[in-house]
Amino acid sequence: MSTEAEALELDAADPGHRELFDVPPAQGGDYPEVAYFAGNSLGLRPKATRAELLEDLDSWAALGVEGHLDAARPWLPYHELLTGPAARLVGALPSETVVMNTLTVNLHLLMVSFYRPTRSRHRIVIEDSAFPSDSYAVRSQVEFHGYDAEDAVIRLRPRPGENSLRTADVVEQLGGDVALLLLGGVNYLTGELMDIPTITKAGHAAGAIVGWDLAHAAGNVPLALHDWDVDFAAWCSYKYLNSGPGAIAGAFVHERHLGADLPRFEGWWSTDAKTRFEMTPESRPPATADAWQVSNPPIFAMSPVRTSLEIFDKIGIEVLRERSVRLTTYLAELLADFEVITPADPARRGAQLSVRVPGAGALSRRLRFEYGVIADSREPDVLRFAPVPLYSTYHDCWRAGAAMAEVTA
Ligand SMILES: *Cc1c(COP(=O)(O)O)cnc(C)c1O
Repeated sequence: MSTEAEALELDAADPGHRELFDVPPAQGGDYPEVAYFAGNSLGLRPKATRAELLEDLDSWAALGVEGHLDAARPWLPYHELLTGPAARLVGALPSETVVMNTLTVNLHLLMVSFYRPTRSRHRIVIEDSAFPSDSYAVRSQVEFHGYDAEDAVIRLRPRPGENSLRTADVVEQLGGDVALLLLGGVNYLTGELMDIPTITKAGHAAGAIVGWDLAHAAGNVPLALHDWDVDFAAWCSYKYLNSGPGAIAGAFVHERHLGADLPRFEGWWSTDAKTRFEMTPESRPPATADAWQVSNPPIFAMSPVRTSLEIFDKIGIEVLRERSVRLTTYLAELLADFEVITPADPARRGAQLSVRVPGAGALSRRLRFEYGVIADSREPDVLRFAPVPLYSTYHDCWRAGAAMAEVTA
């Protein structure tokens, strides 16, 4: 077992960017700040977020409606400030990327275009441990089209006795009746990182559309959505992307679908910005992902996303991923006495480690109030620890390992 002094030495050698974030005070234990492992659920607030949000808010006070054009960051094209950084984060072209709405709403808007079932091909494949919102979204889409969700939704399970899905087993399930494959890039429960390029290719070979929910992947692992030929994807911004509770989400539509004749639910922000104020009865959507926008965006909700994406853009997801692998490997060593259900191979996981342990809910509360260690529990028996490369430290990991040993002794 690594000692506290060793953890502090590792921090000195590999420091991260904790100084950019507000770390909450601990409610128990020997240290003033929490050891925060819930960045996979709600990331911490960047210090710059408050001041930059207030600047945007004050433009409203100073300019009223003229802020649409005259604010320091004008509101009309505000969402475009987020497009480049978001595109670079997920390995997309700016034309393929838009920051809008929230995650499940984006999944629905994208399924309007990309889930177009026929009698012979109407099934949707998801993982059995899909986040509930995704399960409800696909079931409601299936039923909206008049099919039976029990029959049409295929839920992939790991082999008996295993915790994660094997790529070959996923590929094998892709019959000619599958219209859409919609998996989590990183599973929220197990932390498994799926082989996105291989599964996308196999889905296409089976004649299916392949979409990815990147809620736990965006800002966690490098992605190359364009090169991997993913059809569409969506992600939220409040987990690894540190943009605050309910933050505005992202969406990706591959270039080869842009400008195509696809069904879409439209509003005045779906039309080309250059002609928007001509107020014509018919929209003229641009050949970009902006065509999937519906309403004018909430500026004060986008502001924290902009601030956070700039941090990722400056440091780079590849650099963060390298530190992430080092931190998570260190934490895995400290948790070696526990049943970690996340794949052991760093190439098959992101930052998160999921520990299967009886009484996870009660343990999570003890970790918080007796040790200042924030790790959440998920039913029935999983504790999740996500060291975040931007702000987590080796010392945080050491605290988690020591606290876990004590609460389970
Ligand atoms: C967090 C998460 C969601 C949450 O959906 P919202 O629309 O942002 O409330 C959905 N799906 C997955 C896989 C998630 O991890």
